[in-house]
Amino acid sequence: DTTITENLGSLLKRVTGFDEFRRGQEEVIRSVIQGRDTIAVLPTGAGKSLCYQLPVHALGGTVLIVSPLLSLMEDQVAQLKMKGEKRVAALNSFLAPKERAEVLANLGRYRFLFTSPEMLVQPHISKRLKQLRIAYIVADEAHCISQWGFDFRPDYLRMREWLAALEDRPPVLALTATASEKAIRDIADYLLMRQPELFIHTPDRPNIAMELVRLAGREEKTEWILKNLLRWQGPGIIYVQSRKRAEELAGHLRNREIHAAAFHAGMEGEDRILVQQQFLNGELEWICATNAFGMGINKPDIRWIIHDHLPSSAAQYIQEIGRAGRDGGQSLSTLLYSEGDADTAAFIATDDLPEPETVHFIGKCLAEGMDIREAGELAGLSETALRVISYWLDRLGTAQAAIQMDRLAKAKREEIQSMVQFAEGAG
Ligand code: ADP
Ligand code: MG
Repeated sequence: DTTITENLGSLLKRVTGFDEFRRGQEEVIRSVIQGRDTIAVLPTGAGKSLCYQLPVHALGGTVLIVSPLLSLMEDQVAQLKMKGEKRVAALNSFLAPKERAEVLANLGRYRFLFTSPEMLVQPHISKRLKQLRIAYIVADEAHCISQWGFDFRPDYLRMREWLAALEDRPPVLALTATASEKAIRDIADYLLMRQPELFIHTPDRPNIAMELVRLAGREEKTEWILKNLLRWQGPGIIYVQSRKRAEELAGHLRNREIHAAAFHAGMEGEDRILVQQQFLNGELEWICATNAFGMGINKPDIRWIIHDHLPSSAAQYIQEIGRAGRDGGQSLSTLLYSEGDADTAAFIATDDLPEPETVHFIGKCLAEGMDIREAGELAGLSETALRVISYWLDRLGTAQAAIQMDRLAKAKREEIQSMVQFAEGAG
């Protein structure tokens, strides 16, 4: 083991130029090199990318990185290319047909191959990938596979189908910053891991103070924000529920000559990149953002996180708070809370969770030979809800799936209550 350790140190130096591993990296890398399924929970900015980038230099072959977010994927590809890595490609929906054909024709040449869960299950791509010598498979932002995580992406579940169809499955490395026990169990389960090694490093951040401020409603919240932001120096993030609210608040702040901008998924890609860049550069002091803002962003000197709404999961909330004070400087997280916010959060959290009655209804339709899409339409289910339901129906059957939906909804409501207590207790 000591020789591996020594070799890892020189491998790190040779490949990256870095002198030392950061906390958590070395043991994760060793586990992957030893061929074990591995789950690594490391805080944002801790250096998770290195955990999948290094082992392949010792093992040879291709790493297949599955990433649920196109922007994140593009970012990782760009970073690798900037570091001089030439053997890197992304198979995603951004590719023109000609480019895609070229990547597919040259698959074996790549050291790093990024793809999305959707691509993975396309038959012609899946077939080509199976012919590759894959050293290991990486699930980045792996919490997105879990309904317990705050950013559930049902498409991610398709990774399981793909893994299940592999004859001799290479080891899987799951990377995330979210340490919820349930999310971790889901990750291990959905990625068909065999006795995974689990490494957890959660951030201990005593420099973030917390407070809960009770206010009557939206207007009082707006007043509170305007009053305080005239005194406070940014940088800070105000997390809001909706795109409209983000625009509204940013407008109010700009009217008072405060350097603020909105950020949400309804904006053009270019505008979003610009706002992000200006915030990173310090040209913008405040971002009024929906939860679309933050993943993959590493700005160390954020002093304030203000929540204008209650997020719909604890993991989301903790993740957002944790964006403050990465430089160790004193920071404050404020939850602006008014009566009814918990109900709104619960409504959103359970929106895509079908009611038990709906599960029974769908189950009955299927038993009668109806197509699942048709049944979903009849029941008025969203795309996400339909995927959730068909996943659980497949695994558990109707009765158990209905119970499972009920359990999930109840747990989500409890979780939301505990967030309010958390913010209150700390304040
Ligand atoms: P995460 O995915 O965990 O949020 P990243 O992988 O994006 O974090 O890494 C954050 C930054 O830390 C990157 O700029 C990366 O180059 C740097 N980094 C990672 N590991 C090391 C190391 N051992 N020494 C110095 N810098 C590192
Ligand atoms: Mg990352």
